[in-house]
Amino acid sequence: MIGLALKISLLVVFLIPLMKESEALGQAEPPGLKLTVVFNNEPCDSSLETSWGFGCVVEGLDETILFDTGGDGKILLANMDKLEIDPGVISMVVLSHYHGDHTGGLSDFLRRNPRVAVWLPESFPDSFQASIRSAGAEVKTVGGPTGLFDGVHSTGEMGSSIIEQSLVLDTSRGLVVITGCAHPGIAGIVRKAGRLLNKRIYLVVGGFHLNSMTADEINGVIREFKEMGVQRVGATHCTGDQAIKMFRQAWGDDFVESGCGAVIELPR
Ligand SMILES: [Zn+2]
Ligand SMILES: [Zn+2]
Repeated sequence: MIGLALKISLLVVFLIPLMKESEALGQAEPPGLKLTVVFNNEPCDSSLETSWGFGCVVEGLDETILFDTGGDGKILLANMDKLEIDPGVISMVVLSHYHGDHTGGLSDFLRRNPRVAVWLPESFPDSFQASIRSAGAEVKTVGGPTGLFDGVHSTGEMGSSIIEQSLVLDTSRGLVVITGCAHPGIAGIVRKAGRLLNKRIYLVVGGFHLNSMTADEINGVIREFKEMGVQRVGATHCTGDQAIKMFRQAWGDDFVESGCGAVIELPR
């Protein structure tokens, strides 16, 4: 009897507050999005292999997106396995630009899961597009700004010498801009995303490509970000050590670690 009474009182003490808390959470915010960096030369989770390139997975939307595939398919798939992301759950691949450190993992990925639509800038070589089709996947091309599906957009092709698209997620806290290398200029990409959807920027994450810039030039980009009201930044991949340090300093707690294996929880 005493044992039973104890069990009941434990239930009352522990379960009831738990129930109340989960109900309150459920009412406050719908389940969020999860962005996991699966390929990056910048480290974060030491159990994963780093290599030059970038790739991340976005979960929690109508489609599960692989944005860029890194430079090596074996590393990409091994990292996804370790992070317990089944390649079979990916329904959409988005490629930012035609550089091997972003496209190199695609063919190995398609061998594991060809049941995907691959969205790429329409200027990608025909032979590359044909190889995607012959692997059994669908090719979707982007020229101008394009809605990929509800709440997810492409900036469209930007740049002149190196053409690149960036991915824009429209969340309740503002836009999340995901870049590959940002060859067309990171500030211009962020400005275009903000104007396109007429919303404030919550987070910019990916490669910012500032490695050849002076400290003055990097400070200029930081100023532009601040003027645009960018709330959080995850500068990584090809951003450059000095620029990463400066962004980390300028954003403090709102700098988001985005190395290989980083998991970034986002509002929906
Ligand atoms: Zn590049
Ligand atoms: Zn790159």
